[in-house]
Amino acid sequence: MCCLSFVSIHTLRFPGSQKGGAGLDRDTLMTELKGVGEKTGKLFEKLGIRTVGDLLEDYPREYDNFEDPVPIAQAVPGEVCAIHGAVTGIPNEKKVRSLHILNMTVSDGSGVLHLTFFNMPFLKKVLRRGGYYVFRGMVQVKGESRSMEQARYYVLEEYRKLTGHLSPRYSLTKGLTNQAIQRALRQVFAVYEYEEEWFGEEFLSRYGLLSYQDAVNRIHFPRDREEVLQARRRLVFDEFFSFLYLCRQNKDFSRGLENQYQMFETADTVRFLEQLPFSLTNAQKKVWQEIRDDLGSRHCMNRLVQGDVGSGKTILAVLALLMTAANGYQGAMMAPTEVLAMQHYETICTYTKKYGLAFRPVLLVGSMPAGERREAYAKMASGEANLVIGTQALIQEKAVYRSLALVVTDEQHRFGVKQREHLAGKGESPHILVMSATPIPRTLAIILYGDLDISVVDELPAGRLPIKNCVVNTAYRPKAYQFIAGQVAQGRQVYVICPQVEEGELEDVENVADYTDKLRSVLPEQVQVAYLHGKMRPGEKSRIMEEFAARSIDVLVSTTVIEVGINVPNATVMMVENAERFGLAQLHQLRGRVGRGEHQSYCIFVNTRDNPDTRRRLEILNHSNDGFHIASEDLKLRGPGDLFGIRQSGEFSFRMGDVYTDAGLLKLASDAVETLLTEDPALSLPENKALRKYLELKAANHVDFRSI
Ligand code: ADP
Ligand code: MG
Repeated sequence: MCCLSFVSIHTLRFPGSQKGGAGLDRDTLMTELKGVGEKTGKLFEKLGIRTVGDLLEDYPREYDNFEDPVPIAQAVPGEVCAIHGAVTGIPNEKKVRSLHILNMTVSDGSGVLHLTFFNMPFLKKVLRRGGYYVFRGMVQVKGESRSMEQARYYVLEEYRKLTGHLSPRYSLTKGLTNQAIQRALRQVFAVYEYEEEWFGEEFLSRYGLLSYQDAVNRIHFPRDREEVLQARRRLVFDEFFSFLYLCRQNKDFSRGLENQYQMFETADTVRFLEQLPFSLTNAQKKVWQEIRDDLGSRHCMNRLVQGDVGSGKTILAVLALLMTAANGYQGAMMAPTEVLAMQHYETICTYTKKYGLAFRPVLLVGSMPAGERREAYAKMASGEANLVIGTQALIQEKAVYRSLALVVTDEQHRFGVKQREHLAGKGESPHILVMSATPIPRTLAIILYGDLDISVVDELPAGRLPIKNCVVNTAYRPKAYQFIAGQVAQGRQVYVICPQVEEGELEDVENVADYTDKLRSVLPEQVQVAYLHGKMRPGEKSRIMEEFAARSIDVLVSTTVIEVGINVPNATVMMVENAERFGLAQLHQLRGRVGRGEHQSYCIFVNTRDNPDTRRRLEILNHSNDGFHIASEDLKLRGPGDLFGIRQSGEFSFRMGDVYTDAGLLKLASDAVETLLTEDPALSLPENKALRKYLELKAANHVDFRSI
């Protein structure tokens, strides 16, 4: 996912002398700010913040509202709160494999609270017995006793300074604190001046939007929640507006394209379908007909195939690619992750061998040795290969084709004008087939995919056993581990999802590293537990996935990198820790990794925040396996109150906007684009001059305009 930096259509002026004395603007490097030396600069860079512009757009992930401490006896279970008490008794230390556990108690007269800290042995020296501290974290109740894990601790004076206003929390990296980011922002805000605003005043007031400057100011330093909402509204509007505008351009461009690769149906696809061990569902048949019609028609195909997880979209792509190969052309298939690309490659090679298909496939992923990659490129250029499967950049930017007639993108990426032009530069305009499992309600799909024809696979293959779901609290974990051990003993495999890679970034949240250790200690010795996350090297990731597919790993602890596309039909259990932190659509995608084969599958959602709201949300999943139903129920439950914390994932990687929760704003932006284009189609009116420049820059800079 690329988040290209903003372009300096407006300039920040720094009056007076700064480091180096020169005026500074959005493009100014972070290291030119006071207090940001080379070392801190590197840390910022790790977060993707190289310039002042990047910093301004590094919006807070959430806001803390440091509430006044409450008496221990009144702390509400499942809620984050602060208590003020004295450390009593002697701390107790334990080691479980590589996990260090420190237990201590605090008391405030109203009650006693048990504290547990993981891998923080130094705290037994820092927190003195008899000393008073504020501890903040989520309170849990087990029987009579109240406890808090990984609490943050403060001395009272320090804590007092934090209460009474919203405090932004940013994504962090080791060595860089929230305070450091805020300090840098304050420094910038103290001296900057915006020169331009791309929307005119009339436009802003028509749609009830803040100025860009106010929005950026308030998103970082809001006085209250209302200010955050207003600021966010403007920033999300901008994202949607430019996205939809570019979408419109794409539509106008693609609609006019003639079919340069008219194809005829050959015996290849018919024979393949006859040989397959299953027959297509009626929904698959209908969509296959639509694709065939497109490929043979006068116009270039620009089609989205939308279908719930497990509805069998891959086979449709394979059929379209086979028709392409049989007509003597080349096809390409792109996946958002290397792991998924390799899986598709394996599937196609297996089909090719087994059914004698006309494919001469090559794989193109970053972890391949350079020599092999060069060889693959050469085969594509010569036409020796008629199908290439890989990750987007490799296929799209660097490859040269002999006769590329069809591009399939699986999960995530769609095509903008730029990509089309780019490929057109390499040959003619290929057909485009986009496959997506993101369950978008029809009303939103029409807006978001306005530039594509839509096919829907609205039927699952027959004979699938519906997944059995349960939503549980943390007390259920021991039972879950027993269940997992039982499934593994029967030869099945298991996924366990944690929201973060390692301890630290988010509070009160499970992480892959510690959880793997924990599972290794609680599960029987012979159970093979491995982990997978996005920070691993690509080669390493593929190796783990291959081992999992080959069944030499029983339990895979992972972040959401396995969220899309992965197909290991022998996996029957999906356990999601901190399920409350994920959007329902994302949980549904994760659940889609099981229930893909003949065995009964199970999904265990662990809700660590056992409050009525999260329970209600997760109950939707508990009672339905239908992605469309879930998405629309989710939409009903979520309102402007839910703007932070939970984000939907999926292919719409807007920086801030969420197509589900911000559906109203999406509609508004869509209306605004239409109105604008009716009133001033060429954006030639003087009041739209700045807007035109802004949109041109967006178009020029976003290789993938979905990652705006
Ligand atoms: P998705 O739509 O999530 O991409 P896949 O294409 O990966 O789903 O298909 C999931 C599984 O279902 C695969 O193992 C595939 O072989 C199988 N499958 C696809 N179509 C059918 C069908 N008509 N009948 C039975 N199994 C099918
Ligand atoms: Mg798929």
